[in-house]
This record gives sequence, structure tokens and C-alpha cells, in this order.
Amino acid sequence: SWSRVKERLRAEVGDDVYSSWFARMDLEGIEDGGVRLSVPTRFLKSWIQSHYAERVLACWQAQQPEVGRIELIVRSAVLKPAAPVVKKAEPMPAAVSNGSGAYAGINGNGHGRVSTVGDPGMHDALGGSPLDPRLTFESFVVGRSNTLAHAAAKQVAIARRNDPVMFNPLYIHAGVGLGKTHLLQAITWAGNAAGERKVLYLTAEKFMYGFVSALRTQTALAFKEALRGIGVLVIDDLQFLQGKSTQAEFCHTLNALIDAGRQVIIASDRPPSDLESLDDRVRSRLAGGLVVEMGTLGEELRLEILKARVLAARAHHPSFDVPLPVLSYIAKTVTHNGRDLEGALNRLLAHNKLTGHPVTLEMAEREVRDLIRPQEPKRVKIEDIQRIVARQYNVSRSDLLSSRRTANVVRPRQVAMYLAKTLTLRSLPEIGRRFGGRDHTTVLHAVRKIEGLVGNDVALAEEIEILKRQLQE
Ligand code: ADP
Ligand code: MG
Repeated sequence: SWSRVKERLRAEVGDDVYSSWFARMDLEGIEDGGVRLSVPTRFLKSWIQSHYAERVLACWQAQQPEVGRIELIVRSAVLKPAAPVVKKAEPMPAAVSNGSGAYAGINGNGHGRVSTVGDPGMHDALGGSPLDPRLTFESFVVGRSNTLAHAAAKQVAIARRNDPVMFNPLYIHAGVGLGKTHLLQAITWAGNAAGERKVLYLTAEKFMYGFVSALRTQTALAFKEALRGIGVLVIDDLQFLQGKSTQAEFCHTLNALIDAGRQVIIASDRPPSDLESLDDRVRSRLAGGLVVEMGTLGEELRLEILKARVLAARAHHPSFDVPLPVLSYIAKTVTHNGRDLEGALNRLLAHNKLTGHPVTLEMAEREVRDLIRPQEPKRVKIEDIQRIVARQYNVSRSDLLSSRRTANVVRPRQVAMYLAKTLTLRSLPEIGRRFGGRDHTTVLHAVRKIEGLVGNDVALAEEIEILKRQLQE
């Protein structure tokens, strides 16, 4: 029933709000009429508590009327006290993944990450988010999927105070674990080391927290002044930016910085056009700089990252040796993302340290078994659907978005809307908006229409199958 509650919540608040605030909420337990839920950060907890507590309770009660209260706890606080800003590289003890993706060991990213999302730093609205000393350009491996993002990042990091700003903002987007935070922190380290301009790295949560708490203590003006005084603003995980007033403030800040020739760098898990909850003006401003996507880590790149990690680990564990076939095996099978690669190596390191056994292929197969995942279905974008459907039916994409009602356009348009509904998580109104500002009932009509047709029309069903396959390739 937890999944039902989540579903209901998603339906009530909409996909965007849901994924920003509730996607990381877990059920911890239910006991005598109380439901205990956990979230990873204190910020999320207080936000949900102040904005959505009743909603969440109501969703539970709709499923289980006997539930009387909701208790919200911070998950990571139980396992790890929030770490202060990591100042210098320190050897990390070998540790096994705790299953949540935070681990110390090879790269020690666990530290930086946990503290980044942990205590946002109550007293210091503008102290920046903690940085992990290991996330530098030196440790970033360049491959096909990230060449452009890396080059752009390098470029902005080494720019001097009076250099003309080349791309502003620089907007980098990629799925989870593909190196966004690594690249952003690398820029921050390099920029601050160069000492030319003050570089401030903030997670979107921290930006919101700083703003919200500044408002509360009525120092909003000082906060704005301070923010506008910096040379380079780096904002990570922009998809979490929520709330009208924060967004308005973000918009002002962005405009003020860009107009003053300051560099802004942003990372997000989706392109600007998919930040549905953001104001149109902000979206177009974001899209007006350089938008770069980092693709999934290819096998070669994964292998290079693994090699680099082993080398780095040997600085602290000189006897740690991983034969090439083992690395190749991990690179081939643990296909998900950088975090899992790290997790896999950490297991081997832990095993090697604890048992003294050398790392072999058999050991690797045993240790990383649960990290081997089937290829996840690809995230399909509405633009791709429109592009591929248009090509298939030999119409133009603007025809699909237009108000033309000739038969040769109507059917492809319906097919495209149907695919958008079935292959993405977008809501009907969102889809309508992306199809030339149509009403959600139009989208619903199209979806029903195609659903009705595919049962009888074998040719159409086949066409749709082919389109789906192309999109998911
Ligand atoms: P994201 O912020 O995109 O979710 P991270 O930057 O946190 O991803 O990367 C996840 C892990 O993978 C980190 O340990 C990071 O160092 C590693 N990683 C990702 N891409 C690379 C790369 N190109 N070179 C080296 N390490 C990488
Ligand atoms: Mg990140």
C-alpha cells in the first residue's frame, strides 16, 4: 500500500513536485497508528513537514483510515553525522558500500556526498556546499560521452576575470552517476586555486535553504548582495529547485550575474526544456547559454575510470592489485553509472583487505553480482518522439505541433502523443503543452483513440512497435 500512497501523492501534487520532494522518501515502518517515513536530508524533512505534512497524511488515510499521524525522520543522520566541509584529502578506511550509494574507500566520494546533502549549514547561508577534494579535473577521465562537457568546464574554470564570457550559463545535464557533480566540483577547485575569481558551489537545496532561512531572518538583502558579489556561481542539481519565491530569486540572481558578466554553471538531470516547473523566462535564459549533455559512460570509459581508481587506491593500499581481466569484467557488467563502478571496486578492496585474498575473477563475480543490472530502459524525450514520428510519417515536426487538421498530420500527431504518454512520465497537461499548447483533453482523446485502434489495426500496432523500439534503442 506504500506504493499506492506514493502513486496518489504523485497524482495529487504532480510529477515535478513529486520528484523534487518525495522521490527520495522511504517507508521505515508502521506501528500503532503512526507511519514513519524517512528522507535523506534535514532540508527535505523540514520542507515536507511545513508544506506537505497534511497532504501526506491524507494520502495515507485514504488507503488506511486507521493511520493517525506521520513521523518524518532524516535517514542519513542515523548512519552518518553530517560531516563538516572536507578540507584536505585524508585516507579513507576501506569500507563496504552501505547500499545507499554512499561509500568511502576508492574515491571517498561518500564523504563529500553525504555532507553535501546532509546538514545544509544553518548559520551560513552563503558558505557554499561542501566539496570533495577528490573530485578534480585530474581525477576526471575524459571519454566520448563527456568530451564536450569537460572541454567547456575546463574553459570556464581557467577563464580570467576580464576574459569575455564565452558561454553563459554553461548548463550540463546527465543522468545519475555520470559525473555532473564531479565536473562541477572540479571547476570549483580549479577556479578557486587560480584565485582569479571567487567560485561558489551550491546545491540547489542549499540555494533554497540559504534563501529561505535568509528570508526568515530578514537578511534577504544581504544574501542577495553577497550572492551577486561572487565571480562564478556553480549550482548543482537544479532539478530540485522548487517554490515560487525561490525560483523568482533564482531568476533575479541568474539575470544579475549574467548581465554583470559573471559566469554561471549549472548541472541538472534534465535539459532546461524539461524543467517543467520553472518559469518560461528562466528556462529560455538557461537554454540561451551552452547546454551540454553527458551521455552514459561507455565501456571503454568505464574501464579507464576503473584503472584510474585502482591507481588512486594504491596510494593508500599499496598491495591492492586488480588484474586487467577483472577490471574488464566489471566494466562490461556493472553498466549503470560511476557510483556503481566505485561501489564494485570498494567491495573488492574491502574483501582483499579483510581476507588477504588476492583479487580474482571468481571473487569479483561473487562480490559484484548484485551490482550487475539489466540495461535500464532509456529515458525517452518528447522531442525524440516528435522527431522520430515525424520522420516515420514523412511530415515535419512543426506540422505535428501546428493546428493543422488534415488526416496525414492528425494521425501521426495522435501517435506521437500516445507514445509520449506511454513512454515518458509526463502528465497529460505537460504533453499538451509540448504539442503546441494543446489542452489535456486533446491529449487524452489521442491516447484513447490510438489505444482503441491498435487492437484491430495490425499494421498500426506494428508501426507503433517499431517506433517504440527506435526510441528505446
Ligand atoms: P552525478 O553528479 O552526475 O550524479 P557524480 O559526479 O557524483 O555523478 O559521479 C558519480 C561517481 O562516478 C563519482 O565517484 C565520480 O567521481 C565518478 N565519475 C563519473 N564520471 C567520471 C569520469 N568521467 N571520470 C572519473 N570519475 C567519474
Ligand atoms: Mg550529483
